[in-house]
Amino acid sequence: MVVSATYFDGESARNRSVDVNEDGTNLTFSGTDTPYTSWSIKGLHAIDAPTPGQPYRLTHEDKSGARLIIRDDVFIKTLVSRSSHLKGGYSSRDIAHIFGWTIGGLVAVAALGYVAMVLLPDKVAHILPETWRNRVGSQMEAAMAEGAKLCHSPAGDAALSAMITNLALGQPDLPAISVHIYDIPVLNAFAVSGGKIIMTREILAKADGPDEIAGVLAHEIGHVAHRHPEAQLVRLTGMQVLGSVFTGSNGGDMTTNIAFMATVLRFTREAEAEADAYARDTLVKSSIDPMGLKRFFEKINKLEGGGGDKSSAFSKLGGIFSTHPGTEDRMKLIEPLPAGVVAKPSLTNEQWLALKDICK
Ligand SMILES: [Zn+2]
Repeated sequence: MVVSATYFDGESARNRSVDVNEDGTNLTFSGTDTPYTSWSIKGLHAIDAPTPGQPYRLTHEDKSGARLIIRDDVFIKTLVSRSSHLKGGYSSRDIAHIFGWTIGGLVAVAALGYVAMVLLPDKVAHILPETWRNRVGSQMEAAMAEGAKLCHSPAGDAALSAMITNLALGQPDLPAISVHIYDIPVLNAFAVSGGKIIMTREILAKADGPDEIAGVLAHEIGHVAHRHPEAQLVRLTGMQVLGSVFTGSNGGDMTTNIAFMATVLRFTREAEAEADAYARDTLVKSSIDPMGLKRFFEKINKLEGGGGDKSSAFSKLGGIFSTHPGTEDRMKLIEPLPAGVVAKPSLTNEQWLALKDICK
């Protein structure tokens, strides 16, 4: 089975189209400007956990800077079903390696708890096991959604995937994410633990074009890439989070309490600046006009304080940017694409209409 994919050699920023094949032992690919390359399947490393409809990135031990981005679900499924090491994310064995797992569990938890609380929440956020990040993220998401309908339509889902792919084409190290749109009449977007990004119907309704949503999405992906939600959890609860990682529990009911979540998601000015910088960088690399994000910021700034169902969890969590300080200063930093770069639309008109209607 031959499928097309995108290849970054890790040396130049250019992405190349390649045809990929696999025979159970090797993954081979070539393209007009890519010589025939053979990677042993044993040496492959999956950056993402395979998720239907989402780009799946592979790298190889012989060329760790390179990225092969595959989007064919059937091909990915076949490959992963035969090679369990390609399921992606950290396994508990990886974590054990990271910590040099030679001391007793309790000592390790105590030591890590100390590190977590006192020294390095941001560092700890990057080595939390994938299963824990996902579990806690799912709990946060469920508590926030309060049973609201998760919006799906075949064309809308395809458009959302296309937008993520367009962002990933410029940013080959885009973290693994899942984006869920809920039928909630409050304008908001969040990144929670585990790369889960949550948006509302209202944010799509208020956007005047796909580049505005691509900008918001790039900002939220910035929070995911920097593991801001996880770092906040570690910073705020320290030992409790670390204990729950090792006991496999959810750390009590902390992730289902809206007031607590509002604190977790109120990122620092520094974190917001990091997410903005990530968004600007990603949009420029993907040739998507960053002025879409700027327009959206300006619009939200004007809308602040108006409308919406004030009793819902989404309202209690604060306005999309109102809880994030320094909106005016942040807008000033967003600049158009550099001269000579032709803007690529983040979605076709048809895809955009399908995405807008995803909750209908
Ligand atoms: Zn933010």
